[in-house]
Amino acid sequence: MSKLIVANWKMNNSFADIQDYVKELRRQVKGDGNIVVCVPSVMLKDFSTSARGIAQAGAQNCHYAEKGAFTGEVSAKMVKDAGATYVLVGHSERRENFNEKNEFLNKKLNSALSCGLKVIFCVGEKLEEKTKYKSVLKKQIIEGFAHVKDFANIIVAYEPVWAIGTGMVATDLDIERAHKFIKSVVKEYFGAVVPVLYGGSVKPSNAKEILANPEVDGVLVGGASLNASDFASIILSR
Ligand code: PEP
Repeated sequence: MSKLIVANWKMNNSFADIQDYVKELRRQVKGDGNIVVCVPSVMLKDFSTSARGIAQAGAQNCHYAEKGAFTGEVSAKMVKDAGATYVLVGHSERRENFNEKNEFLNKKLNSALSCGLKVIFCVGEKLEEKTKYKSVLKKQIIEGFAHVKDFANIIVAYEPVWAIGTGMVATDLDIERAHKFIKSVVKEYFGAVVPVLYGGSVKPSNAKEILANPEVDGVLVGGASLNASDFASIILSR
């Protein structure tokens, strides 16, 4: 099975970009079910319709509640109904800028799973936590996965915060150690096996090496996914 390649547009690109982006992806790569593009929620319907057969649409966030007085939020069911098959939970930008804590993220994760979404759960240490990355990751995993019974729809993304959008990429050894550690914690505490993606300044020039690492089950790409040609070239590095 091919490795999972996930784009995260963050709050970038526009409706007008969707057609050209998808056209370029279709020109360069074959859809194999393992290409995902996480777009702003308002673009989910358009993107999922345009990209049918080539890429799946993912949401970048959802709320844990089914409905209610949460002005400005969207529920897991709403993003699913709009065309998402995946959702990112726990991205470091949400943890940092929106103060999302493990307990809150755990509620989102369980809500998304109960709606049938596949969850890409992001974990990673900050620069100042680099020497104690194991304790940081362990806490994020144990608290983040509380009450989860079925891990079939969970994918972990290891994204060291110091490597996101900085151009600093974790070394092969950093990645291998962290991925092995994450897999061992999930196995020990939950008895489950999960795929682990790497994210942090992945680009066409380093994707091949990162994806060649047997511990890496795919990549999550921010900046370099905004341009369809760059993203296609990362996909073609598998
Ligand atoms: C991300 O935002 O998940 C990410 C990995 O960003 P970048 O590729 O730009 O470092």
